[in-house]
Amino acid sequence: MTRAVELVEVGPRDGLQNESVLLSTANKVELIRRCVAAGARRIEVASFVNPRKVPQMADAEAVVEELGELEGVTRIGLVLNLRGAERALACGVDQLGAVAVASDSFGIRNQGQTSTQSVEEAARIVALARAAGRSAQVTIATAFGCPFEGAVDPAHVVQMARRLAQAGPVEIALADTIGVAVPAEVTALVAAVRAAIAPLPVRVHFHDTRNTGLANVWAAVEAGAATVDASLGGLGGCPFAPGAAGNVGTEDVAYLLARSGVETGLDLAKLIAASQWLSGVMGKALPASVSRAGPFPSGEQG
Ligand code: ZN
Repeated sequence: MTRAVELVEVGPRDGLQNESVLLSTANKVELIRRCVAAGARRIEVASFVNPRKVPQMADAEAVVEELGELEGVTRIGLVLNLRGAERALACGVDQLGAVAVASDSFGIRNQGQTSTQSVEEAARIVALARAAGRSAQVTIATAFGCPFEGAVDPAHVVQMARRLAQAGPVEIALADTIGVAVPAEVTALVAAVRAAIAPLPVRVHFHDTRNTGLANVWAAVEAGAATVDASLGGLGGCPFAPGAAGNVGTEDVAYLLARSGVETGLDLAKLIAASQWLSGVMGKALPASVSRAGPFPSGEQG
């Protein structure tokens, strides 16, 4: 049996939201279309948050409207509260991505909610999506550490996942929002959360702040994570997490998995071309390595 792992492209949301260069709506739509052409089937297309706090996402509705429906592609809208969920549902996204936060300090800064409040709000968001005939998933942010409180108790994360699973999301994700995790922690937490929420799948979300991003991806895949978030070019950060670097790069994850015998459905050459296009639009080199070094063996499509 061929092993397969699904990637969620988060570049258009997590990738862009921390960038000072404001991308036009047309360029965001072009970015999403290029990701689809490279094989992406789930894409975080925008976040429906306060535009005063995250100006880069002020045109969320316009992006979804201009993009239109995409055959076989799930367009995800990130939301932090019911108000955002209503906006996202009204403009027709396919799936809501809610965020529960493992630490109170980060939760209050990121979305004005304590950890407990964020779990309850995420559960309400999932219920709202389901009532509207749409799906929803929940990401547990700062699951491996908080920029303000430090270490996060894995037992607390497992307990959050168990509560969130009762709301009926399609999956639960573990996010290393600030990029502090190491593979041994990833192996342990993915296994513990999988056991707590089975048969619901686990998704993972890593930032590469301390160069452990790809190692963490591999640890998560080996521990049975079904889905991995990645950002084209490795773009990204978090406006509310000081010093956080970008997500693991989509082309780097695609290369790693393809050459390890894990199918992603992505076309490496098209990813590299899209990443180089994005680099041009952003006016700077992007952190992902494979776009600079090229595929191997040469001409390999991955
Ligand atoms: Zn992130």
